[in-house]
Amino acid sequence: FDDREGWIWLDGKLVPWGDAQIHVLTHALHYASSVFEGQRAYGGEIFKLNEHSERLHKSAQLLGMEIPYSVEQLNAACNDVIKANNLVDAYMRPVAWRGSEQMGVTARGTQCHVAIAAWDWGKYFPAEIAAKGLRLDISKWRRPAPYTAPVHSKASGLYMICTLARQQAEARGYDDAIMFDWRGQVAEATGANAFFVRDGAIHTPTPDCFLDGITRRTVMDLARNRGIEVTERAIWPEELESFEQMFITGSAAEVTFIREVGPWNFEVGDLSRQLAKDYDDLVNGRIPNA
Ligand code: PMP
Repeated sequence: FDDREGWIWLDGKLVPWGDAQIHVLTHALHYASSVFEGQRAYGGEIFKLNEHSERLHKSAQLLGMEIPYSVEQLNAACNDVIKANNLVDAYMRPVAWRGSEQMGVTARGTQCHVAIAAWDWGKYFPAEIAAKGLRLDISKWRRPAPYTAPVHSKASGLYMICTLARQQAEARGYDDAIMFDWRGQVAEATGANAFFVRDGAIHTPTPDCFLDGITRRTVMDLARNRGIEVTERAIWPEELESFEQMFITGSAAEVTFIREVGPWNFEVGDLSRQLAKDYDDLVNGRIPNA
């Protein structure tokens, strides 16, 4: 992925794609001292850009790291990256990390660096698989307790668990995985939040140990605008068989239907389809902000 054409914003300047490099003795590489964002541009407009830039700041803060650019500067840099690369519909990846200024576990003496890349990244899951709904494995890896890690930070360190879960799922022939949390409650997929539908109402796990996704909140608003009841609560695996539909949400995954979780099956139903369409209409500016 490092040999493409284009421009990446690195510590305040646009540099050619291949020149956006860091040293092997980077604190973040050894100790996971980095945080990132993931957002999409639709028709040249970055959806909920300010929320994403604010979350990058918050994620860094939770790791005791200060980003040396304001939210406004990050917003401007993101827009510059879209323009420099002539992108219209794109995925964007801002990332902030502790550099190679020193090599101890301590964060003292390190500096916070920031990069922003963007590229054309169609659908997160192949369209023919997503149309039928994904098959999710039940991961043996769990979301950690809030006293184990800064679980509300979009911190790279927490993605070790997600990659492990996804690897196990793929090895077993699934598209992705659902993770439970340390208590055994249903939590989220490896890069998206989870929603369930029963009797025309939506149920979603309370985000008390994983990201309260920007897409999650957007879809909850869209559902409520349609008069659909949305309940955030603890969901235990025993309840999964009682749900009729399931979908997951994320900036990359958008609204993706699920047809299977381990032994349980779901239909790709009207309510899920309606919300996927509403989300698509919203991000593409066909309906005003939710
Ligand atoms: N959970 C995880 C683990 C994720 O990686 C993401 C994607 N950022 C989400 C949830 C959804 O967050 P958002 O809707 O803000 O993209």
